[in-house]
Amino acid sequence: MCESVGSSDAGSMFWKKAKPAKKKTAPTPRPKPAADDASVGADQSLDLLADLLRIYGEGAFDLEEISADEIRERSETWARHLVVGVEPPDRPSEADEWQGGASAPRDLPGVRRFVGETRREEHRYIGQSFANMFEAIWAFIGGLRHTLAFDQQTDARVAHRLHRLEKAAQGNSTARLKQEALETVSLVRECMAHRGDNQQKLLASLDNRLEAVRSELTVVREQAATDGLTGLFNRASFDEHLERLVDLHNLFGRPVALFMIDIDHFKWVNDTYGHTSGDMVLKEVAGSLAKSFLRKEDFVARFGGEEFAVALQEGRIGTVKGLAERCLQRLRDLEFEIGDEPLRISASLGVALVQPDETPQAWLERADAALYEAKQAGRDRVVIHTSDRDPPSEA
Ligand code: GH3
Ligand code: MG
Ligand code: MG
Repeated sequence: MCESVGSSDAGSMFWKKAKPAKKKTAPTPRPKPAADDASVGADQSLDLLADLLRIYGEGAFDLEEISADEIRERSETWARHLVVGVEPPDRPSEADEWQGGASAPRDLPGVRRFVGETRREEHRYIGQSFANMFEAIWAFIGGLRHTLAFDQQTDARVAHRLHRLEKAAQGNSTARLKQEALETVSLVRECMAHRGDNQQKLLASLDNRLEAVRSELTVVREQAATDGLTGLFNRASFDEHLERLVDLHNLFGRPVALFMIDIDHFKWVNDTYGHTSGDMVLKEVAGSLAKSFLRKEDFVARFGGEEFAVALQEGRIGTVKGLAERCLQRLRDLEFEIGDEPLRISASLGVALVQPDETPQAWLERADAALYEAKQAGRDRVVIHTSDRDPPSEA
């Protein structure tokens, strides 16, 4: 980079200067040359060149390799070198000691090198910066085209804006490019905000619709699982539940007692007081059963007509018997204000404990057989279907 002062190439470019001090705002004032001085022309040229160097330095900007301040400083040193003969920058360390002063040789090739190299660096830097910027703009345009799905009206606006930006990117005017880029960014921002709002609304309405569907489904499912008159589980739910209980019993040996409960002489209630009164009795009986079996694993269903079924996770015969008796007592205690005198009812109850490897159907038939026995034995009683395979009674 550095060229030695006094080399054969540079030698011819040197001026000898003998100049008086000159009044000037420059850092090192120099006397004005006498009008008849032979070196006046050269002095003026050097002054002019020094001024230009200073202007150049003042307009410098930060480059990758060298900062604006550094360029300004070097321009100033070169200017001082030209005007008063201070040691030029970039002088090789092995060169002779600099004999500065007004008559010292001036390193004009050095000045040229300094300006030339700095200018080249500026060009390279600007070129690279522009290349980066164009690349970013193209990537931005491409990205927008691929990722943004605008509605038709927005799409047209953005397409138009992108077209203008493309044109600006192809042109030479950086001011226009900047303006177009700013307007595009502002339009895209506006569209994104709009799109965000729309998506929010869409999500909210989707959420509402899903919630409506979900609650409809819940209602439908509940309706499908429950009995319309009494609100208890219906026969279909009961059948499903019975299968689950049998599976659980077979897998884990969990004991379950099945109660089949049938209102005694219910036909008489209907015949005497009418179906509406009969319905009211059915509802009251259902309510009483629901209150009798409150544990969360208790399952109470209307099996059909005036018949009810209860599944309890209980295997101790004594406990089962006690629960069954209590249940019938509660039904006996009900009073219906239907006729002249309060009506009372009773029910019969058959029980069977599930047995290993028993099908739901077989289990149900055993409970039904016990109920039939209770009816046959005079009604208003509990009959437990016993088997050798039942767990031993704790009572
Ligand atoms: P038992 O003691 O032998 O059980 O005699 P029961 O009269 O209770 O039995 P039966 O099977 O002879 O009669 C049952 C009656 O229940 C006949 C039917 O009309 C009535 N029933 C069935 N479902 C309903 C209903 O939803 N509402 C009303 N009100 N009555 C019903
Ligand atoms: Mg009956
Ligand atoms: Mg019946």
